[in-house]
Amino acid sequence: MAEKKRLLQILDLVKMLPRTNCKECGLPTCMAFATHVLREGTNPDLCPYWKPEDLAFVKQSMKEQGEDSAYPDHLFSARKFVQGKIKDYDFSLVADRIGARLETSADGESYLIINLLEQLYRVGKNEVEAVDGTDHDLWDHVLLYNYIAENGGHEPTGKWVAMESLPGSLAKRKAFVRDCEDKIAAAYTGKPEKLRAALKILKADFTDLDSNAEVAVVFHPLPKIPFQLLFWDADLDDGFPAQVKVLFDETVLDYLDIESLVFLGGKCAERLLNLL
Ligand code: SF4
Repeated sequence: MAEKKRLLQILDLVKMLPRTNCKECGLPTCMAFATHVLREGTNPDLCPYWKPEDLAFVKQSMKEQGEDSAYPDHLFSARKFVQGKIKDYDFSLVADRIGARLETSADGESYLIINLLEQLYRVGKNEVEAVDGTDHDLWDHVLLYNYIAENGGHEPTGKWVAMESLPGSLAKRKAFVRDCEDKIAAAYTGKPEKLRAALKILKADFTDLDSNAEVAVVFHPLPKIPFQLLFWDADLDDGFPAQVKVLFDETVLDYLDIESLVFLGGKCAERLLNLL
């Protein structure tokens, strides 16, 4: 069988670019340019500094990736919409409220450095890039912009609630169970030690939570959004499958709308599965 070709990643492009951040392409950094080329179909010709063979290779690879890298139009609209919401925000006031770090570029542009599942993202008013060049996608952009747009609220109180008690969650609960809780439970069945190891990478707090779950931790997928994750392994004798339950701080909707929260749950599952 023919080997599946590896998809071109943002970091692959960055390595081919001169990394001078000269801005001639209209973007502030080579990383931002690489992200726009791969994620939004920006024309690679806009950078005049490619080696001709690299440019030809990138164009050919993008053509082959074709449909795979396309996003639905509504996702671009969603990002544009939420970018519009934050366009007048003063990032120096928002940073503390959402647990982000403020960074200002030499030309006075403000960015928020946000920790999403122990990966740092530099978010500007018009662009997002992963600080370490990790590949990411447009869905992550929309999530991060939504987190900024909510602009925080009450500090987390430590009072835990289930999703079903959050207003407007009725129609979303099923998707959260499917995309987050059930996926983690299935992947880590019989592997509680591995789950603990993966959660350590996500800087989970293992302080005793007074729960009968086999794994019971608190971790922060986003700085002001703690998740309490409880895992009961399968009971083969009684035929019970493994189970995961996620609880939220009662302030969670001050930081993210319910739809984005479901997406964040899916991201958590994806990250934990990658750490297995
Ligand atoms: S024009 Fe090329 S070298 Fe200059 S910032 Fe854009 S991508 Fe980087």
